[in-house]
Amino acid sequence: MEYSHIIIRYGELTLKSGNRNEFLKKLTKNIRYNLKGLEGFHIQTKRDRMYIHLDSNKNVEQIISKLKKVPGIHNFSPVLRAKLDVEDAKKVIDNLLQTKLDKEYTFKIQTKRPNKNFEFHTNELNNIFGSHVLINYKNLKVNVKQPDFIINVEVRSEGIFIFTDFIKGVGGFPVNTSSKALLLLSGGIDSPVAAWMMAKRGMMIEAIHFHSYPYTSPRAQQKVEDLCATLAGYMGTIRMHVVNLLPIQEEIVKNCPEEETTLLVRRFMMRIAESIAIRKKDMMLITGEDLGQVASQTAEALVVTDSVVKMPVMRPLIAMDKVDIMDKAKEIGTYDISIQPYEDCCTVFLPKHPVTKPKLSKIEKSEEALDVEALVSAAVDSAEVIDITPR
Ligand code: ATP
Ligand code: MG
Repeated sequence: MEYSHIIIRYGELTLKSGNRNEFLKKLTKNIRYNLKGLEGFHIQTKRDRMYIHLDSNKNVEQIISKLKKVPGIHNFSPVLRAKLDVEDAKKVIDNLLQTKLDKEYTFKIQTKRPNKNFEFHTNELNNIFGSHVLINYKNLKVNVKQPDFIINVEVRSEGIFIFTDFIKGVGGFPVNTSSKALLLLSGGIDSPVAAWMMAKRGMMIEAIHFHSYPYTSPRAQQKVEDLCATLAGYMGTIRMHVVNLLPIQEEIVKNCPEEETTLLVRRFMMRIAESIAIRKKDMMLITGEDLGQVASQTAEALVVTDSVVKMPVMRPLIAMDKVDIMDKAKEIGTYDISIQPYEDCCTVFLPKHPVTKPKLSKIEKSEEALDVEALVSAAVDSAEVIDITPR
């Protein structure tokens, strides 16, 4: 059996009638980028669906696994195409059923007929193909409620498409159809999931990572680069800004109350991130924070960290349970990288009893001991930039 095409369905895109052309252009471009290096196909983009014409099935498994990662695809189906002719369609169904000869199965035929000029109606076609299968395949029985598989038949102007599978895509919108945002990316489980969620709403993502070298190791940074490379599989090359936070942490430890260390460090992270985001014309910041998960993520603490920036801070995980975040991380392929045991800059100088209900006025008072502006601008100037491509 050789698939002739892969049909791609857009789902939510159809709501965006005004911007549809722009969206489809981006989606086609993103798919081409994702399939770079593979040969033997060409893409045809139509208003309601996209066709990948396959010259051969040599790379079909790789194409399928890459399509599963492109935001903006709702679902897709590898299909066999018959001519606009019932007899030819029967032959193609025979072809398809070669993988269903090994045991007893139940099936049903589900016909759609967008091509209203075709000589037979939907119910007639269901009957014609259903009888064909029942007569020729003694191991197959009809079950309309809960069949083991469905033979989908779509009669279109281009031919009759026949397939059994709807493969789930990422959903959402194509990357880069919304604006750009800067993600605060740690090596943890949460922030990569946050990036994925915003990218699937069409955002283009840059990342900023803070380390405390030599307290944190180069291997810890490598882990974050590995996370970016995995995320890039969904959203294209990611530009990562890397900043050493150690000079600021040392100033805080020297001059401020110990229990406020984490919060004060986080306020600096936000300031530095915003400053870089403004330079890069990013409109928002994204973090992987989740309400109540740790001391720095109480509502009070979030208010204290947000008060140093004007830019909106997106926290797509804020109301999720940790187990659900972990499941999502496993699904997108970042979990195994995230759990590698390398230290994060936040765990360096961790206070024994961090404040959980900080008062903004008290935190601001503590910061008076620091030259905030000079520390931020030195950190911003020292940022390194790395472009990380998909792996
Ligand atoms: P994660 O699993 O994403 O590390 P976490 O539960 O460990 O989250 P924190 O360490 O408190 O939580 O960090 C909260 C958020 O702050 C992270 O999701 C990330 O957006 C940002 N952040 C933390 N550490 C760093 C870092 N070293 N560099 C950049 N951003 C960071
Ligand atoms: Mg963390």
